[in-house]
Amino acid sequence: MNNSKKDVIVIGAGPVGLFLARELVRHGRSVLLVEKKDGQSAHSKALAVMPRTLEVFEMAGIAQPFLDAAHIVTKAALLDGNERLGELPIEPSLSRYPYVAMIPQDVSEALLLAELRRSGGEVNYATEALAVEQTADAVNVHLRSGGADYWVSAAYLVGTDGAHSVVRHALGLEFEGGSYAAAFVLADIETTGELPADEMQLCPHAAGALACFPMSASRRRIVAMVDAEPEGGPDLAFVQHLLDTRGLAKLRASRLIWGSNFKIHHRQASSMRSGRAFLAGDAAHIHSPFGAQGMNTGLQDAWNLAWKLRLALAGLATPELLDSYASERHAAAERVIRLTDTITKAMASRNRLAQAIRKRAIPILTHLDWFKRVFVDTLTELSVGYPHSPIVQGEGQRATDEPLAEGAHLYQCLGAGFVLLAPPIAPLLDEVAARFSAVVSRKAHLGADGICLVRPDGYVAFESASATARDARLLEQVLRKQVRLPNAAALA
Ligand SMILES: Cc1cc2nc3c(=O)[nH]c(=O)nc-3n(C[C@H](O)[C@H](O)[C@H](O)COP(=O)(O)OP(=O)(O)OC[C@H]3O[C@@H](n4cnc5c(N)ncnc54)[C@H](O)[C@@H]3O)c2cc1C
Repeated sequence: MNNSKKDVIVIGAGPVGLFLARELVRHGRSVLLVEKKDGQSAHSKALAVMPRTLEVFEMAGIAQPFLDAAHIVTKAALLDGNERLGELPIEPSLSRYPYVAMIPQDVSEALLLAELRRSGGEVNYATEALAVEQTADAVNVHLRSGGADYWVSAAYLVGTDGAHSVVRHALGLEFEGGSYAAAFVLADIETTGELPADEMQLCPHAAGALACFPMSASRRRIVAMVDAEPEGGPDLAFVQHLLDTRGLAKLRASRLIWGSNFKIHHRQASSMRSGRAFLAGDAAHIHSPFGAQGMNTGLQDAWNLAWKLRLALAGLATPELLDSYASERHAAAERVIRLTDTITKAMASRNRLAQAIRKRAIPILTHLDWFKRVFVDTLTELSVGYPHSPIVQGEGQRATDEPLAEGAHLYQCLGAGFVLLAPPIAPLLDEVAARFSAVVSRKAHLGADGICLVRPDGYVAFESASATARDARLLEQVLRKQVRLPNAAALA
């Protein structure tokens, strides 16, 4: 391992660490990514890759291999025994990805690793982080590898080392929250039988909720609440019994691929930043798997942080820009914890009154257009935004993809710098764009008189229906909140 000082040390090569490292390396930053295991996990854990994650992958230029590997699911059915209580089509507004892409986590990790290597990066396996220390201008990490102990230094550190994060402990950050009392089993099975392969089935049964996710035409992921954990995990007969008694008797389990018992916790780190060290992914937040948000939320942490670290390393970030990572993503994760808690309670409650309410409410709610729209946009993470962020003006909402002049579209131009969408002729805006040309590219706003500044991660930093001198001043103020120019004094 080359121990010269790196730009960033990333601890933990799960999906979040791999994606973050790749986003830094492809823009020329030196990264040391260490992983205590000998290789990637072989488990299928996180299955559902949400539309917003696919959009993020598109902006990062890596969507296609994920789409090639995906099994597409377009709706969720809610069943009570043989009765179909309702159906939720996954039809999010204004996305090129109106579906959930089912991709086992080991496959997602292999794809992210391949993209990291293609960009010139690598994982240092069998290397464990033991301790972290910080000074004013560096962060130092104590590593152990092959029986040798040594320290490495970098300008920044990111702990993507999972729920038991050593980095979080070393930073003295609390992991506040609790656990759900219920026990759960998970099983990936080969099946025969007649169930649509483009639909997930959710069965909020009196004996405990069961969910069935298609992984391919014949493979299914079963997750179910159980009274007592089967010793050593569920076997094939146990899974078939669950299917027979919870409303999916049509499905025959023919082979168990992977089975596990698990408990659910909901916790959040008190902060996602301490000095030069950051937390992302499960190291910063864990929650119920109802809603399949975990890996998706972590990948969005990485996406939010990568461009801010790149600007900081280039000497172009204001202190507020790096601070905004913790405030924006802490708030986003808090919303995810609330959402998954609500879904868990609604689906898993075995209280008789709750069951009766659920049975009446589901058919009503799944017929309400506004409910379907809000629920699906939330679940698909397309409604994630940064409304109270100190570095944006307005709602900080996701910018939808749109065609630009010269045949390109917006998402193809994001990932690296800001995009300023403005009328083709607007000299005052051209002056602002020219001053910030190190980080802003100017594009013609087709068919619109106003302006829109889109951040490198695809969120709107500033928007106005007009393009006056006042708008140009406001635009400059927003940019100066985040970007420090080498000749900033001259801008006053
Ligand atoms: C059964 C199950 C089903 C799930 N289903 C879904 C789903 O459908 N959708 C979804 O979005 N999420 C799901 N999740 C959650 C998802 O798996 C996690 O959110 C995701 O793995 C988090 O990624 P991460 O990179 O933050 O952490 P991890 O995947 O936990 O990776 C952390 C890495 O850090 C390494 N590490 C730890 N400590 C050190 C150290 N000191 N030094 C070096 N390396 C270290 C670990 O070995 C590990 O490889 C599921 C989880 C489980 C268990």
